[in-house]
Amino acid sequence: MSKRIDVKNLDIYYGDFLAVKDVSVTIEPRSVTALIGPSGCGKSTFLRSLNRMHEVIPGAHVQGEVVIDGENLYGKGVDPVMVRRKVGMVFQKPNPFPTMSIRENVLAGVKLNNKRIKKSDADELVETSLRGANLWNEVKDRLDKPGSGLSGGQQQRLCIARTIAVRPEVVLMDEPCSALDPISTLAVEDLIAELKENYTIVIVTHNMQQAARCSDRTGFFNIEGTGKPGQLVEFDDTQ
Ligand code: ADP
Ligand code: ADP
Repeated sequence: MSKRIDVKNLDIYYGDFLAVKDVSVTIEPRSVTALIGPSGCGKSTFLRSLNRMHEVIPGAHVQGEVVIDGENLYGKGVDPVMVRRKVGMVFQKPNPFPTMSIRENVLAGVKLNNKRIKKSDADELVETSLRGANLWNEVKDRLDKPGSGLSGGQQQRLCIARTIAVRPEVVLMDEPCSALDPISTLAVEDLIAELKENYTIVIVTHNMQQAARCSDRTGFFNIEGTGKPGQLVEFDDTQ
């Protein structure tokens, strides 16, 4: 379930604007890589390119390769929907579907992929995904209550459960704690460090301490000035 990522000479454009220049990097399976750098240097842009999410933005396009488990996501005939199944994404602001119950939220990604599952399999998937997100004990007695009734930190762990329920190989997280209070942040950081047992994880953060606490390796993005592209300039493997 955990796969290696090889990014080769990746350039990312919005129309004519080169936002991220010439990134090459290998990310090992069962690891957490944190990407850090000043605002506007292209961290989110780069992260989105790892599951082709930037394609929802008109004019956004890439040159180069992102190879996951030997397959270039940008190769001919690759289905973007399959890519997003393989590579899950968790966003900054917890975004459970507000009208859905906790159970329905966990299953939402699986159902979007048009998979029909038996009730007993669904129950098992809900439990294993919530356990995987360190949320089971807190919600097992209220699975049919709305996800929006949970605290911010619980909602973010619910979103992580929804992501891992699809059984991806890679999980991307864009500033997953920046909308959370300090206690919830620690719970999500602990969870991120645990998730690497099963997934290859890449997170964007603006917090050095967070990078040190929950990642194995930090990649630093930088930008020379307005209008210039962001670049991945350095790695710290000493954590
Ligand atoms: P970071 O995540 O490091 O703050 P971003 O990836 O959000 O940086 O942005 C990198 C650059 O790309 C910035 O100059 C930003 O203004 C630009 N950018 C981001 N999203 C878009 C978009 N949808 N259209 C045009 N330019 C964008
Ligand atoms: P983030 O860094 O978390 O992506 P931003 O506030 O930079 O947050 O961007 C919010 C949204 O606006 C993002 O979806 C981004 O793609 C888009 N965006 C950022 N910069 C630009 C830009 N120069 N032109 C158009 N859209 C942009």
